[in-house]
Amino acid sequence: MFAFTHSYQALPERCYARLGPVPVAAPRLVAFNHALADELGAAGAPDEAVLARWFGGNELPAGAAPMALAYAGHQFGHFVPQLGDGRALLLGEVAGPGGRRRDVQLKGSGRTPFSRGGDGRSALGPVLREYLVSEAMHALGIPTTRALAAVTTGEPVFRETALPGAVFTRVAASHIRVGTFQYFAAREDGEALRALADHAIARHYPAASAAEAPYLALLEAVVEAQAALVARWLGIGFIHGVMNTDNTAISGETIDYGPCAFMDAYDPATVFSSIDRHGRYAYANQPPIAQWNLARLAEALLPLVDEEPAAAVERVTPVVREFASRFERHWLAVMRAKLGLAAAEEGDAGLAQTLLDAMQAAGMDFTRTFRQLADAAAGAEAAGLEPLGTWLADWRARLARDPQAPAERAAAMRRANPAVIPRNYRVEEALAAAVEREDFGPFERLRGMLAQPYASDAAAEAFLAPPAAPDPGYRTFCGT
Ligand code: AMP
Ligand code: MG
Repeated sequence: MFAFTHSYQALPERCYARLGPVPVAAPRLVAFNHALADELGAAGAPDEAVLARWFGGNELPAGAAPMALAYAGHQFGHFVPQLGDGRALLLGEVAGPGGRRRDVQLKGSGRTPFSRGGDGRSALGPVLREYLVSEAMHALGIPTTRALAAVTTGEPVFRETALPGAVFTRVAASHIRVGTFQYFAAREDGEALRALADHAIARHYPAASAAEAPYLALLEAVVEAQAALVARWLGIGFIHGVMNTDNTAISGETIDYGPCAFMDAYDPATVFSSIDRHGRYAYANQPPIAQWNLARLAEALLPLVDEEPAAAVERVTPVVREFASRFERHWLAVMRAKLGLAAAEEGDAGLAQTLLDAMQAAGMDFTRTFRQLADAAAGAEAAGLEPLGTWLADWRARLARDPQAPAERAAAMRRANPAVIPRNYRVEEALAAAVEREDFGPFERLRGMLAQPYASDAAAEAFLAPPAAPDPGYRTFCGT
């Protein structure tokens, strides 16, 4: 079914550990992404029992060569020289449409040499959260890893209480992280570092190989991809929650959905993760944190950039600094699209910021307000937008100078402003039904609604309305 290749195995053996998944008691397929399977050339997928054995880790699909990847990372600012796939296994790479290669990885498939104290397993709740939210992000048009399958194991995992266990199958452009480079840099393993950088260039940024300084060009490409990504996150109210360097993908995809959540009422200080006590990964901190993570990538790449450390620092510094202007440019493009502005004007950033300030002051829902602005752009009464006060008049005056016709503008705004997002209370409901009652109906229903987030669908919009009362105490937890 999958035509696996294994380019990662061309790297030195210390980049990974080869081992198989630990079989589970009673694998049962609870979700499968047929459309994605087709994209991966896996049309004519075998029956559910076989899929359950493959994606539960009880049987390997032909051609799979599982391995756990080595990586390090800064977690909440503290360097951990060895993390690695403690509960995940890369089965192999599969070519999709246009020859784009993608990793297929089991997560929750048992202990590995990188497990440290962990059990190598995942609980069903976090597996379903990653499934729902990563697919929602994809539908929203945000670069992200994808969800191929969720399999319950028939075994409990022990966290604070006993919970049903599950295995998640993730599809990613690759699993190379900032922390992967840090792992070899910390060991002063220049050979592996260079091999990894060459591999990342070939896989993600082939144009960099022709640059005058390929490793600097790699850094620049990753800086650009991350600036674009984080601007897109802010545009939909997404909070990753655990932006450690091991959760920062070189590809520029969103990766590692743990305590992530979407903001309801606009507040730049919003934090959901129970372990993020100081708000390090709050909504508005995400751009500077991404830049901080990229500075760690730059440090890891120093020996490849120039043999002379001071010269290397001099070359990478402006590239990392440039994150700020790249981010601003992407953010402004996102905000112009959200505001229905086709042409650029000097004051647009200020117009966007004034709106956000007014939304914050009035506690307005981020998603709904922008969707209402799209309705207002189509000529409807600006219902629900009264708290914006004089800003509305300023915006209309600005629109009058913009070349787009109102109907065209409203349609474009509806493609830039989702009608629905995975509201936290609905995600929790769906997870609870599955975990507590083995009822996957709410999960399926939510998954269906989130597949077309920009379409106007009254039922979906009512179901995924902003919460009646804000829940300032809403907390998310890491999947561990
Ligand atoms: P995460 O919080 O999922 O990004 O994981 C951070 C690190 O902890 C990675 O090295 C994971 O592989 C490892 N880890 C998380 N949960 C487990 C677990 N249950 N068993 C073993 N390792 C784990
Ligand atoms: Mg992680």
